[in-house]
Order: sequence, then structure tokens, then C-alpha cells
Amino acid sequence: MAAKRVYFFGEGKAEGHGQMKDILGGKGAGLAEMTKLGVPVPPGFTITTEVCTEYYDNNQKYPKDLKKQVDTAMAKVEKIMGAKFGDPENPLLVSVRSGARASMPGMMDTVLNLGLNDVTVKALIAKTNNPRFAYDSYRRFVQMYGDVVLDLKPVDKHDEDPFEVILENKKKKYGVSLDTELTAEHLIELIEEFKAAIKEKTGKNFPTDPMEQLWGAIGAVFGSWMNERAIVYRKLNNIPAEWGTAVNVQSMVFGNMGDDSGTGVAFTRDPASGENIFYGEYLFNAQGEDVVAGIRTPHPIAELKKDDPVIYKELDGYRTLLEKHYTDMLDIEFTIQQKKLWMLQCRVGKRTGFAAIRMAVDMVKEKLISKEEAISRINPEQLNQLLRPIFDGAEKQKTISEGKFLAKGLNAGPGAASGKVALNAQDAVEMAAKGDKVILVRIETSPEDIKGMNSSEGILTARGGMTSHAALVARQMGKVCVAGCGALKINYKEKSFTVEGKAIVIKEGDYISIDGSTGEVLAGKLETKPSEVIQVLISKTLKPSQSNVYQTYASLMGWADKLRTMNVRTNADQPDQSANAIAFGAEGIGLCRTEHMFFGGDRITSVRKMIVSDSVEERKAALDELLPLQREDFEGIFTVMGERPVTIRTLDPPLHEFLPHSDKEIEELASELKITGKKLKEKIESLHEFNPMLGFRGCRLGVAFPEITEMQARAIIEAAVNVARKGVKVKPEIMIPLVSHVNEFKLQEDIVRRVAKEVMKEKGKKIKYLVGTMIELPRAAITANEIAEHAEFFSFGTNDLTQTTFGLSRDDAGKFLPEYVNREILPNDPFESIDQNGVGQLVEMGTKRGRSVRKNLKVGICGEHGGEPSSVEFCHRTGLNYVSCSPFRVPIARLAAASAVVNEMKTKKKNKSKHKKKKASKKK
Ligand code: PEP
Ligand code: MG
Repeated sequence: MAAKRVYFFGEGKAEGHGQMKDILGGKGAGLAEMTKLGVPVPPGFTITTEVCTEYYDNNQKYPKDLKKQVDTAMAKVEKIMGAKFGDPENPLLVSVRSGARASMPGMMDTVLNLGLNDVTVKALIAKTNNPRFAYDSYRRFVQMYGDVVLDLKPVDKHDEDPFEVILENKKKKYGVSLDTELTAEHLIELIEEFKAAIKEKTGKNFPTDPMEQLWGAIGAVFGSWMNERAIVYRKLNNIPAEWGTAVNVQSMVFGNMGDDSGTGVAFTRDPASGENIFYGEYLFNAQGEDVVAGIRTPHPIAELKKDDPVIYKELDGYRTLLEKHYTDMLDIEFTIQQKKLWMLQCRVGKRTGFAAIRMAVDMVKEKLISKEEAISRINPEQLNQLLRPIFDGAEKQKTISEGKFLAKGLNAGPGAASGKVALNAQDAVEMAAKGDKVILVRIETSPEDIKGMNSSEGILTARGGMTSHAALVARQMGKVCVAGCGALKINYKEKSFTVEGKAIVIKEGDYISIDGSTGEVLAGKLETKPSEVIQVLISKTLKPSQSNVYQTYASLMGWADKLRTMNVRTNADQPDQSANAIAFGAEGIGLCRTEHMFFGGDRITSVRKMIVSDSVEERKAALDELLPLQREDFEGIFTVMGERPVTIRTLDPPLHEFLPHSDKEIEELASELKITGKKLKEKIESLHEFNPMLGFRGCRLGVAFPEITEMQARAIIEAAVNVARKGVKVKPEIMIPLVSHVNEFKLQEDIVRRVAKEVMKEKGKKIKYLVGTMIELPRAAITANEIAEHAEFFSFGTNDLTQTTFGLSRDDAGKFLPEYVNREILPNDPFESIDQNGVGQLVEMGTKRGRSVRKNLKVGICGEHGGEPSSVEFCHRTGLNYVSCSPFRVPIARLAAASAVVNEMKTKKKNKSKHKKKKASKKK
């Protein structure tokens, strides 16, 4: 039997259905489904996507039996419409449209009013008694066909549309400003001029035979699958070329037949806010393109209720029917032809993240969908739109169109921020103290800049990637951040920066605006809108009952928490960050980087004393100064975190990060330390390393200087005991960084356990604590079974693990990594989303090997990947106990962990039904 290549639909019957998107395309499947539902759809037929693929496989030739199947389907359409395609007396007119499996808006072509020629147009006049309408339809057809099929279009972006030029001249000639003011006679002239232009510019005659027109249009739609913009769109959206497009041939209905006709596009809910209102636009006496072309201003759909209450009621009924049937928000197109409503399209509508969340939650409450379905419909990253300040979209576009776009960097910390430029941390602190909003702009940041970062609204750096210091500290603080913006040329001396390829100079104190969700940097000030969720949870300036947005957020998060099996912790090293994280639902601290505390208050001086000490005694004296300060920090964190586990990491970064660099700072420190500047310089030089990230850092510091680990262990346990005395069941977990060999761990563990024992004896109180390690070097993952003999928990430091697995510096990769991603050498930035086939394999191996010797080994992740949805899903599949991420990412990780469960359930269900089918076919 010949393959079925053409699917008919019309008058309540359809050969296809809504689930056949793969072969009918989205539009074709939608038309079939609507027809079956009894919605009035003009009859027609769909040529399958498989024909498109065959067409390209066979040197752009159609399969032999296609024509016959098209003729048969056309005959059915003719019968329903009581008209004949190409008939001189009673012609059927059709539209020819593309329709791929995935929606590719505006990427491919459409031809309307096909079937018109100098003879059939007369029949149309006779039928409608409206010559202007008939010639206007003919004029539009020649124009569209000339453009789409015969290829008369602008040559480049500076070229004008040749048809529009002729049309404009015609209007000028007759002194009219609107297309609708042209008379039938003017339109007849236009048609002739259009045809002449086609002949002159392309050498082709305009075809008069409707069948020739039809096959020309079908060929053009298939051809448009391979046009440049379609290819680019497919690449950007991962749509394979083999999918092909379907072609929909459908009888025409006309919205431009007079004032009792019209056309419109609508969404069944507001696609921007998600509100459950009918949202759309329509125009009387118009054809589809008029609504979107922007020449006439369409009316909001609510006005149709007054203008034509009967049609509105019918349309609103289809809105409800279709939403119920598809259980989703739909994008619909309709036409009214002489008081009769026709539905031309329905597909799941595109929406903002904000709307996606509201709709999903509302639809659960309306009992349209399940909670699981709601969770799987939301991309967890979309939560950012609820949590972060945002720019007003229109205002941002206006600023860009005024030429104020400066450059684009990495979208390292989502949200929008606007403020005055500060080019060093000290200036940022001072400007903020005066009440200014500040954007800190640096080539890159270091721990010294922390105070300045904290005082700023946003951080912009010229260098560094997604795990650069700027990016990870900004995320932890909840600051907006654009990192690695290589086009910035920053001149600290002149206190200004320029942008490559632009004449502009931005000085300290000038306003700039940064969008950390897109990476865009703009000149000037832009207003930002605060998030209602933040106003309820963090600033507490709104009550939950005052905010619908918050209530939506809370419902969704509640459902996610019930579903997920993995815990979500936070990376925080200050009591205020910890409190924010709890408000966002964190269930513990997964990483407290103790070194971040070294810059608080005046403690940096003690840290520097410790580093430059020449003897153990000197070092111990400096550490004694630090002990009470660290203890106080930990007490603050334990008090906020209560009974939740708190993982504290011993000192990790290379020591030179804490030392001053400029001559002036070196002299100042030397006099404070009562040593000569020369001696201090020598010390700093002795600490210089060519490759500090692979150098004297992590547990190597504690191995060489055990007194540092001793001091930190004492501070942690003393703080824990002090807080436990107040009746809080503290749960400290002490974590040793950058371990590559089990012996390193054992040395550090011994110190921690010895000190803990001493402290508990001194204080006369026992507490429970764990000692574990970070797995952030390949050797640690490979020998995880040896390490787990001693370590009570693992936390994967996937920032360093990615760096060391790829042999790719996390601080310098920003120079070439974006190019790798652009050229698809790597599918993603591996510092952002875990490299599942490489680094991920080490995570899997480390977990398995660790648990092979310690069955219930607690395993988590605290690299930046812990807040990235696809990585969170990977961690769930790998069996990790928790992910840990910056406070503002906690809700995203909670949702991603729930979504991982839903996806797992779906996969299981699919496999089960596959298994059943296999079994059934075996039995046969
Ligand atoms: C890591 O390496 O993943 C990690 C969390 O540690 P840091 O980023 O502080 O090196
Ligand atoms: Mg690390």
C-alpha cells in the first residue's frame, strides 16, 4: 500500500490528530485536533513532514504518488466548500502554509488567496458583489506569491521591498495615505505593475494556472525549510534538519469581506503576566497580516464583547474548550467571514517565565493539571524572574535603540542593576555610604574587594568566567553580576573605562545599567522593579497576604518540597547570608568558606601577620588574635542555622591572595607589623607562584602549618559548644579542602579530632560533629574508597574538579571558553553546567567508590553547579544526598530537584510501557 502522505481535515472529521506533530507538524496536528473537537476550521489537508524529508533526499523531487493524494484530498475540500479549485465560475481559493514539528515563528513562508487569476477574480466579484475586496485579495496574492515563490524580495537589509515601493508610489500618485483608500481601479493597476516588476526582475511570468500556482507554493514552503533564517533558527533551538516541515493547504476564509468580517490573534491567558484573561487583538475588515503588520492599530479583544457580543461569546467558548482539551495556554488565530467565526490555528503559546509560573500554579488550582505537571512545565531558571529586580522591558529596548548598548559579557548573576560606576572597592564603599547606588567595575575582583562588592548593587568585570571570584561571590551575596566582559578597557589610573569599537568614555560616577540575566551592559540610568518575593522574604516590607506573586511562589515551592528527595543547602559564610538562605528554604550550609571572613572588620591585619610570620610562635600569636573573631563568626552562623547541618571548610586559597600588592599598601602594612618594607616585599615575593590554583593551597596549607587547622578547629568546636549550651542541637561538619591523597586527609582529621576532644574536655560538654572532605581533584575521586575509610562525608567541589579534569584554569578560561561554546566545540560552559560525560563520571565514580566502603556515606555538591538545573538533575540521578548553592539559587535548586523526580517518574512510565509493548509483541 502506498504510504500515506496527505491527511485531510474538515467538517468534524480528520485523518490525523493532535498527537501527530511529528508527521503533521504543529499547525497540521492542531488543525486536525480542532476539527475533531467540532471547532469550525476551514477544511483542508496537510502534506506530511516525511514528504519534505523525501523531497530533499531525492534531489528535490516529490514522491510519485503525492499528486494523486493531493488531488483526492482537494476533491474532498471542494465538496465541503461547494466550490472547485480553478473553476472560472465558482473558484475555491486556498492558503498554503508551512508548519514544522516545533514552532519556528516567522522563519518560513505562507501564501494566501491562492487560486486567483484574471478569470477567477471575476467570479469572486460576482460572488461577493465587492470588486474592491476581490482585487485587494488578488493584489495581496500576487505580492505574496511574487515574494515567496518567485523570489522578488529585498536583496539586503538596506534594500526596500520592491512591492512596497510600487504600493507607496501608487498611494502618492492618488494622494491617499492608507492602503484601504485605494479603489478597485487603483488595485487593478497595482496588480499589473506587480506582475511586470516580477517579469522584469526575475524573468518569470506570473502563473495563471491555479494548479501551477499550488505546486509552486508547495515547493516554496519545502524550499523555505532550507532558507538561511530557518537554518539559523534550527541551530539555535536544536531542531534537526531531518524533521522537515509539513505543508498545510486550507480553504480560504476572508476577514476582509466588509465590516461584518474581521480577523484576530489571541492568547487564552495573558502571556506576559499569566493572568487568566482573554488576551489578544483583532481588526474588522482585515486579513491576518494587517493585525501583525502594525499599519492599522488593532483593538483589544475585550472590545469585541461590545462590538459583536455573539461572536465574542462563541470565541470565548472555544477558548475555554481548547484550554480544557489541551490543558495549557494557547495561542489562537481566528477569522470572521460575514458574521461566521472560523478558527485558523491553535498551538501552545509562548510565555514569559513569570507567566509560566503563574499559569502552572493557577491551572493546578483550577484542577486542569497535576502538581507534577506544573513543576515539569516550569524551567527552574524562570524563578529568577520572580526573585530578582528586573528592568522594564520597553524602557530597556528604548535605551538600546538610543544607541546606549555598550557591550555584552557573561550573565553571571541574574537580575537588573543601575548605578554610578566605582572603579575600586574603597570608592564603592564611600559612594554607597553617601547614599549612591553603585556598580563596581573591575578588571577582575579578589577577596580584597568584598566590602566594595557588598556595598554595590552590581558587579561588572572585564575578565573571569562563571566561577570567577566576582561571579561566585556576587551570587552568594545576591548581587547582579556581569563577568568576563572583554570589550571593556578599564583604566584605573584615569578612573574611567572605554568600550572596544565605541567612542564613549565612562568615568567613575557616571551611570551604567547591567542586566545579569542576559549579560548586557548599557550606558545611563534605568529604573528597576523590585521583586515582591524578596520584599516578603528578605526585606520584609510586604506581608505574604499582600502579594499574589508571593503566594504563587509559595504554593509552587510547597509542592516541589513534597516531591523532591534531595536536600538543598546553601553556600554562605555570614549570618545574614545564612538567614536569607533559610528564608529561601535552605536546609543547611553546604559550604562555609572561612577565608571570606578574613576580610571582615580589622582582622585582615592579623591574617597578614600570620602569613608573614617567620616562626611557629609568631604564627601562633597571630592565630590567637584570629581565634576569638572566627569563633564569633561561627557562633553567629550556628545561631542562625539552629539544628540544620553546617559544613565549614578549613582554609583553602593561596596565601598571597591576602597580601597587599601596591608599594603604598606594602609600606603601610610593614610599619603596622613593625618590620621593614624590604622584608615584607621579600616575603611576598617568596609566596609568588606561577600557578597558584595548583600550588600551595587547600589542605596543603594545613599540612605545612598545622596550627592554622588547629585554630580553625578550635574556633568551630568552641562556637558549637557555646551555642549548644543555649539548647540548640548544632550540627557542625568540618571539611578539608583539596585532598588528593588519603594521607593528607588523615593528617588533618587527626588535628581536628584532637582539638575537638581538648575543647570538649575544657568546656565539659560533648557535641556531635563530622569530619569529611571535598572531592575536587580527579585523584580524590579515583581513590574515593581509600578516602571514605576515614572521611565521614564527601562534598564535590566541582569548580576545582572541572578545572583539574579539563586542565582549564577557571580564572582564565573566560578568554576562549565562550568561543568554544559558540562554535559548539563544547555544548555548554562546563563551569556553569556540569560536564556529565567527563567531570560527571568522576562524581559518579567517587560516590560509588566512597559508598563501597561506607554504605551510608553522605554525599553532596558545593561547586557552583549545585544551583544549575541540569546539574541538579544529574546529582539526583547520581544519588547525591544534597546540592548546595548560593542563597538566591536555593529556590531554583529546590524546584530543579523536584523536577528531576518528575522526569524520573516519566522515564520509568515510558520504559514500563515500552517493556509491556515488547512483551505483547513477543507473545504474538
Ligand atoms: C569548588 O572547587 O567547587 C569549591 C566549592 O571550592 P572553591 O570554589 O572555593 O574553590
Ligand atoms: Mg575548590
